[in-house]
Amino acid sequence: MRRCRKKRQHRTKNNPSDAMPKCGNTGDIVDQMSGNQPRVLVTGAAGYIGSHTCIELLGNGFEVIGVDNFDNSEPVVLDRIAELAGRAIDFVELDIRDTDKLRAVVAEYQPTAVIHFAGLKAVGESVEKPHRYWSVNVGGTLSLLDAIDGSAVERFIFSSSCTVYGDPANVPVTEETKVAPISPYGRTKLAAEQAIIDCLSTRDCGGLLLRYFNPVGAHPSGRIGEDPVGIPNNLMPFAMQVAVGRRAALSIFGNDYDTPDGTCIRDYIHVVDLALGHVAALSTATTAGECDVVNLGTGTGSSVLEVVQAAGDAVGTPIAFEIVDRRAGDAAVVYSDTSKAREVLGWTATRDIGDMCRDHWLWQSQNPDGYN
Ligand code: NAD
Ligand code: UDP
Repeated sequence: MRRCRKKRQHRTKNNPSDAMPKCGNTGDIVDQMSGNQPRVLVTGAAGYIGSHTCIELLGNGFEVIGVDNFDNSEPVVLDRIAELAGRAIDFVELDIRDTDKLRAVVAEYQPTAVIHFAGLKAVGESVEKPHRYWSVNVGGTLSLLDAIDGSAVERFIFSSSCTVYGDPANVPVTEETKVAPISPYGRTKLAAEQAIIDCLSTRDCGGLLLRYFNPVGAHPSGRIGEDPVGIPNNLMPFAMQVAVGRRAALSIFGNDYDTPDGTCIRDYIHVVDLALGHVAALSTATTAGECDVVNLGTGTGSSVLEVVQAAGDAVGTPIAFEIVDRRAGDAAVVYSDTSKAREVLGWTATRDIGDMCRDHWLWQSQNPDGYN
């Protein structure tokens, strides 16, 4: 097992996380458990959402043990987390399907909560390589559930996706909306949710299954952000790579949908708001043996053309685009009902599409080739 204990650092007054609103009543949780900081095992800690969440966890007093196999991330992220948070996470490089290694990490660090980000997330790739998606997303989740069995973990937070709703008949999408995933990726996220629900039902552990809408943006420092491998599948990374000169023009997939400007509408959420949603989830009461599902979105829909306009405003130059055919499988309108997140987690997203574009652009312009 390659173990990397990053050098301890003290939080400084310049720590950007110090300037951010601390979320909900997390401080109470930390105080109640004082003496020992609550320890959280974060799988996929080096990834896009995982790295932003690690910073907010450290900023809110949690101890973090991260695991990742760097399948879709770079080790340098760990240095940047330490730089931004003013202290480091503990980290072990491993594949979550290696249950023995994972169990050894759990035995050594004794976490009381798990946030499970590690997984594969590209819809198109999941169609081409379905077995890989079932292996990592479902096999990896089963391995993690096995590794924590009998441990002190009493809270399990899972990264699910609004993709489990497929093409919803009505918006806003509530947690009661029928699930009907239309890709192997979506089916693996739903299967992982169901595995968690069944396995935790016999344990002293409660679960929160968080269904994210469209995460975009970056840490306001511009030091960490999304670094997709190859040609980006998603709108915001593609638009920003056009802005930085890596791509000639954005292809907008269809302008003949039944929406005000003809382009699809989505619920984009700033990755820092999403990270703070996980901090809130760690201080939310859960019932042993039970899981709850919560949507994490802003409740506001933005069309593709609105996002392209906002991205151009942030960059200072319009984003070049062309209208092309629809992309198979795209729903016309998807945005979240946010009432359950507010009631259950006491959490609401506060950053708007302008903030998302500004921060995404800062990251992209400072790191035109990503972490490389
Ligand atoms: P990401 O690819 O940036 O992060 C995932 C991390 O998991 C990466 O660092 C990767 O190296 C790691 N990983 C992959 N397979 C692994 C394995 N077998 N063992 C150990 N580590 C492994 O993706 P992200 O955007 O941060 O997404 C995190 C989670 O959120 C995923 O589970 C994804 O399905 C879910 N999600 C993401 C989005 C989105 O648009 N970004 C939307 C909804 C849900
Ligand atoms: N989109 C686009 N061009 C791109 C990527 C995405 O027009 O290069 C559109 C896509 O059709 C959808 C929206 O942008 O309507 C959001 O797509 P994304 O892949 O970012 O997220 P999704 O909602 O599909 O998970």
